[in-house]
Amino acid sequence: DLGVRVAVSSTDEVGELAHAFNAMAHARQRSEHLRAQLVSDVAHELRTPLTNLRCGLEALQDGLSAPTPEAMGSLLEEALLLSRLVDDLQHLAIAEAGGLRMRREPLDVGELVQRVLAGMSPTAASRGIALESQMPHALPALLADATRLGEVLRNLLANALAHTPSGGRVRVHAEVLPGVLLLHVEDTGRGIAPEHLDKVFERFYRVDPARSRATGGVGLGLAIVRQLVEAHGGQVSVESTVGEGSRFSLRFPLDAGPMTRAA
Ligand code: ADP
Repeated sequence: DLGVRVAVSSTDEVGELAHAFNAMAHARQRSEHLRAQLVSDVAHELRTPLTNLRCGLEALQDGLSAPTPEAMGSLLEEALLLSRLVDDLQHLAIAEAGGLRMRREPLDVGELVQRVLAGMSPTAASRGIALESQMPHALPALLADATRLGEVLRNLLANALAHTPSGGRVRVHAEVLPGVLLLHVEDTGRGIAPEHLDKVFERFYRVDPARSRATGGVGLGLAIVRQLVEAHGGQVSVESTVGEGSRFSLRFPLDAGPMTRAA
């Protein structure tokens, strides 16, 4: 029974043991609760696209709708959303279980940023957003998994591009402090209101669910970002002003290592 508590009546060793036991029981109860919450969130997220898919197929089968390219396209869209959701969940589950296989090697972050930006620049251009980077000339090597860190940057940049209107600007820049590398992804987008700021890293948290579904997000992107950054011993944070823009910052510990680029 997870609800068992030991009465604490003394401050000696037995009392301390009782305290420790109660703390453990509490932590276990909390983790059971979180698991139940996650299962219920997942069921909820799966239900909408599944219902849309099922109703769409039934309408086709019953001859109530015609298999026009638009109708098929929107069904495919629901199926894609489901695939993405399942992929994201699997990724997150593996990361949270600490089972993510990380291949950390001394990494030239400047080069990684350039590569990721090159991949995103067609999207930025098609939306009329300037995509820029400003990296110091000499960056110390970061012990990191290039694939995972690339994924973190792509996620943050995709969000920045999705929430920034045409004519805006998205910028990646780095700062080196003693023992610390900071990477910022900044946008001039719509921003995030203070009451949402500390929640955006939670699983399935969306500031505006209706709007976000249209852009395909289910609120897992930033939860995955946080897991991946923490797997590197780093931290992620966000600052934002509504109507002005947002800035996501990654903070990584630097192990004293060789410079990857000469000044
Ligand atoms: P999703 O995949 O739904 O976008 P995320 O976990 O990536 O979920 O983000 C959670 C929420 O944070 C989103 O619903 C979005 O409203 C908000 N958000 C994330 N990045 C930005 C940004 N750069 N500007 C404004 N809002 C953002």
